[in-house]
Amino acid sequence: MSTSQKRLFDFSESDSSKDFFSELEEGDLCVAEVVFNKPLVSVYHYAVPDELRESLQSGKRVAVPFGKGNRREIGFCVAVHYAMQPKQRLKSISEVVDRQPLVSEKMLTLTRWIADEYLCGWGQVLESAIPRAVKQGAGQKQRTYFRIDEAKRNNVQIGKLSAKQKQVWKVLSSSKEPMTLEELAERAGCSSGPIHSLRNKGAIQSFRKVDDSDREDDRSFVIELPDYALNEDQEKVLKKIVGIVESQKHKTILLRGVTGSGKTEVYIRAIQEVANYGKQAIVLVPEISLTPQTIRRFRSRLDSVAVLHSHLSDSERHAEWRKIASGLVQVVVGARSAVFAPTKNLGMIIIDEEHETSFKQDTTPRYHAKQVARKRAEIENIPLILGSATPTLESWQRVQNRDDLLLTLPNRVNNLPLPPVVLVDVRNDQYISKGAAIGRILATAIRNSLEHDGQIILFLNMRGFTPALWCSACGKSMKCPSCDITLTWHKDRGVALCHVCNFHTDAVRACLECGHKGIRHLGIGTQKLEQEVRARFPEYQCLRMDSDAMKKRGSHHRALEGFRKVNISILLGTQMIAKGLDFPNVTLVGVINSDWLLNQPDFRASERTFQLIAQVAGRTGRGTKGGRVFVQTMNPTDPAIRFAAEHDFLSFAKHELIHRRENRSPPFSRVIRIVFRGENEAATRTAAETNSTRLKESIGSMFPDLKILGPAPAPISRVKKFYRFHLQLYFPPDVPLGELGNRIRESLQPGKDADFVIDVDPVDLR
Ligand code: ADP
Ligand code: ZN
Repeated sequence: MSTSQKRLFDFSESDSSKDFFSELEEGDLCVAEVVFNKPLVSVYHYAVPDELRESLQSGKRVAVPFGKGNRREIGFCVAVHYAMQPKQRLKSISEVVDRQPLVSEKMLTLTRWIADEYLCGWGQVLESAIPRAVKQGAGQKQRTYFRIDEAKRNNVQIGKLSAKQKQVWKVLSSSKEPMTLEELAERAGCSSGPIHSLRNKGAIQSFRKVDDSDREDDRSFVIELPDYALNEDQEKVLKKIVGIVESQKHKTILLRGVTGSGKTEVYIRAIQEVANYGKQAIVLVPEISLTPQTIRRFRSRLDSVAVLHSHLSDSERHAEWRKIASGLVQVVVGARSAVFAPTKNLGMIIIDEEHETSFKQDTTPRYHAKQVARKRAEIENIPLILGSATPTLESWQRVQNRDDLLLTLPNRVNNLPLPPVVLVDVRNDQYISKGAAIGRILATAIRNSLEHDGQIILFLNMRGFTPALWCSACGKSMKCPSCDITLTWHKDRGVALCHVCNFHTDAVRACLECGHKGIRHLGIGTQKLEQEVRARFPEYQCLRMDSDAMKKRGSHHRALEGFRKVNISILLGTQMIAKGLDFPNVTLVGVINSDWLLNQPDFRASERTFQLIAQVAGRTGRGTKGGRVFVQTMNPTDPAIRFAAEHDFLSFAKHELIHRRENRSPPFSRVIRIVFRGENEAATRTAAETNSTRLKESIGSMFPDLKILGPAPAPISRVKKFYRFHLQLYFPPDVPLGELGNRIRESLQPGKDADFVIDVDPVDLR
């Protein structure tokens, strides 16, 4: 977690180290270039002893003596070549760690580019690109199975068994296959107790073997889905894509298709095309849409699909990785880091919902999967498809400039209309002014939909019960002692919780500041919304989906299956339900509060509001019953909200780009944000100021087009006891990062009181 960007420029300590780009003179000595998982700019040179020469290859890890004390460090070998022994003798590699290279030459090129682009160490990128499980060679998972011991079958005295044990015996006797504990317990309707006691009696046997089954939730969902004839728009788009695949050149395509226009269908056909050439595709989706629903669609139409998401165990991830590397997989579907999947012969990369911020990693290396995918597609000479109903303005500007190709799916499939969106001005609503979440108009609409057997989705982006506890005496709201964040009341647990660091306290009767006993609860979270919905519509089933309610593995999936089966009428929740869900029976979507994003101190606030309303609206009107959207707002004239209600992306983009151009914000500039952090406020401020001054002096005259903001306290000025100050550089997008990046790295020095984080093209400005 320590992201201190400490550059060890001190070459005396780094034995053989040379500058990143320089080469040793050509000669007879075998030399390995090695990088480490540290924020280092340099590569290090080591001599390769004769006995290791055979086994060493770039892409493998090596153990080497490092630093003055020659402590053992593991690094990645990124190149091997022959050179003269330099004046200062090179140290030697002590061991080659891996039997097979962990990454290919192309992947080395890509990761090197990421290090330069995001101003971090090459070794840090490699460390993050290769799953831990792969580095450790995590073994496959073993599970315990039970079966009848055939030799003793006739010795078992059934009459002496308990009822539960009999049941276990019966189930297992009639099963051809051995069963796991879970399966057996479920089928026999008992706990694990009777199973274990049967085994202890010797009546049944247990043994361990590798679990080679697919994950349960994957397997149970391979059902055939219809193979549609594409409609005219889809055909046109596919034809263009196929043309580009055939040309074997790199091209980035922005596929703008409204929600439900059949983009996924086009992806699947494009992947089939690529597979016909014996190549593989990578599909990146936001983690949140890696639902069984999505995976099922790919599995039912393609022969071999590998899935990479964050819930895989180490051994599962390792198995998927190996399957991909062996070339047996047609398509890899995964979140951000799947952009590094070790495909043998990559033919295409697709990024669905390209506007999603989760494609940016928020720890070092802070790469954006979209930029990495673009670079990888360039290196591999293959197309990159970016799909979205609401593209980012960066992507949109690229097609305006004709850097990328625009393809459009303007209509929903089967001539379904986009749902009408009603903006509900709740400034004077009689329910809302009394503290309710659901205003009068939305309440009537819900009642109406329910009476016509429709299902309903209610969206509210605030988990917990009430987001603020406010002291009526001193006027302060209760804050986390470690963060500049108000505490959220979680009624179910009886605690006030910090959503940043998880601090919680049940001491909420009196104000922490002044001791007054008149604490008031302000605002509404999903838990309170749930209570209100249950009270108002008691005869209907309601389900809440947010990260609190969905902690258990598989709960997400079970909840959605419940909703699909229509016994749940109202689904309410956070972002979790805003994206990707496709339920034809949903006839009403309500956005409880569309304004919260608008007030964020971020130049993308409008864009995010537009995207959110468009995405949420996309969840309805997908069946024959039609659907409507009600958006509660206190800003009914705001352009982002108005254009979203009219499904008018083009006008929104035009409007917003004018502002961006005026303010020199992206896409008309790029941003580098530097956050200084330290536990002492004054020292952190001083560190921010001295570093910023040095940086400004270094780059000011060289890049006169730079706009520099700060240093200033970050919008969240304290997190986990660390004070935060930030500096933002806005620079023209055509300025190459190279020289600017070098100067930034050279000017910034971590001190003992504060370190810093460099974020290139940040998506989170808090
Ligand atoms: P998007 O990804 O643009 O939101 P999807 O690909 O999910 O759209 O398509 C929306 C729905 O329409 C899905 O249920 C899909 O199975 C269906 N669909 C897609 N293409 C066709 C088609 N050509 N004919 C009929 N139904 C289609
Ligand atoms: Zn906190």
